[in-house]
Amino acid sequence: MDFDWPDDNDDRRLEIREWLSSNGNNPSQEALARAGYVAPHWPKPYGLDADPIHQLIIDEELSKAGVKRAAGGIGLGWAGPTILFGGTPEQQNRYLWPILTGEEVWCQLFSEPDSGSDLANLATRAVRDGDRYIVNGSKIWSSGAHRSHLGILIARTDPDVPKHRGVSYFICPMDTPGLELQPIVDMTTAHSFNQTFFTDMELPVENRIGDENDGWRLAKVTLGNERVSLSGEGALWGSGPSAKDLLDLVRAAGGLTDPNLRDRASRLHIEGEVLRLIRLRTLSAQLQGRQPGPEASVRKALADEHGQNVMQLAKDLTGSHGMLVDAGPLGESPKFPVTHAVVEGWQHWHGGFLFSPALTIGGGTSEVQRNIVAERVLGLPHDVDIQSGQTWSESKAQ
Ligand SMILES: Cc1cc2nc3c(=O)[nH]c(=O)nc-3n(C[C@H](O)[C@H](O)[C@H](O)COP(=O)(O)OP(=O)(O)OC[C@H]3O[C@@H](n4cnc5c(N)ncnc54)[C@H](O)[C@@H]3O)c2cc1C
Repeated sequence: MDFDWPDDNDDRRLEIREWLSSNGNNPSQEALARAGYVAPHWPKPYGLDADPIHQLIIDEELSKAGVKRAAGGIGLGWAGPTILFGGTPEQQNRYLWPILTGEEVWCQLFSEPDSGSDLANLATRAVRDGDRYIVNGSKIWSSGAHRSHLGILIARTDPDVPKHRGVSYFICPMDTPGLELQPIVDMTTAHSFNQTFFTDMELPVENRIGDENDGWRLAKVTLGNERVSLSGEGALWGSGPSAKDLLDLVRAAGGLTDPNLRDRASRLHIEGEVLRLIRLRTLSAQLQGRQPGPEASVRKALADEHGQNVMQLAKDLTGSHGMLVDAGPLGESPKFPVTHAVVEGWQHWHGGFLFSPALTIGGGTSEVQRNIVAERVLGLPHDVDIQSGQTWSESKAQ
């Protein structure tokens, strides 16, 4: 790490502390949003145009003061940045404030039963009819759609051009007539996903973000958005317990004698350290205003498999207790007596172990990540594309 970390009397720190004390050290979500502290990296008036160091100072000062920001998830992480990038001032003013205050929750309506990794192949149609679009089709794996007010939706507006070119990007209120949700209960027993069906659903033209047929460019903004963060060593996409947490528990319980388990524990430590260093390199690049290099592409591929290894070892260490859904890894093992707080950590997202297979699928599968590394980092040739030059309709007719 090679940057100057601002000292305790830095003006930016003093400013936040002063603001906190003028808000009784317990600001409302509305106050945090209006002060620009929820997404400081966003431009004014929604954020503070904060550079990476300023963002980290704000994170640090708020967390020292015990202030929590309610906003997060798909609204703050994906919908907001896309609306900032391609939305009109009216759309920005209408949608960004409730994202920042946490009042409106968003979901992502991208994947379809027949297009996940090959997202640009999507078949949901939006046909323009005067000042509205008529939408028909279906989305799947819509996380939290049943708890969301709004969704970001991509749909095909022109089938007679190559697949990436005929897609548009919409804001979809989840209570629109013609939209129906069917719950999908996953193997953790949680209802986290849904299949979403659209039957002659009408969306006003003003719900489109950007130009018609320019949705793929915006979808790439959505998928590529990553803010600077010092946290995120957790095994489950940056959340939940980390390899270090597990190994600390192991040490506290007297260590391991079985050579096979010792070997797995040391491998986990090495993976965790490699990932920590990759994160520091990425962060260092961001803090110096440089684009992260190949390490950022490699990180997801490594981190997802590492998360599975952490959860697998945690489960195996508890022996037969690890098989219990309600105990979970390290839950109630007599060998690893742990506090309630830690148990909750391992139960994160309805049982870390049962959730962990999803790590190498969601947000781009590990195979697709490896393709990205092969092509963009190592410069290997792209797969032969048999649909090259065809319109989406032609490729479907085959
Ligand atoms: C926890 C979780 C939450 C999710 N939340 C959402 C959400 O909120 N909204 C949403 O829209 N989607 C969501 N998804 C869906 C996710 O984006 C897709 O599952 C993912 O993009 C993979 O698509 P797929 O499931 O159709 O698999 P497919 O693309 O059909 O892949 C099947 C297999 O083929 C392999 N494969 C595919 N293409 C290639 C290739 N070119 N080279 C080599 N191998 C390949 C894949 O790696 C995989 O092993 C979520 C998924 C998970 C696991």
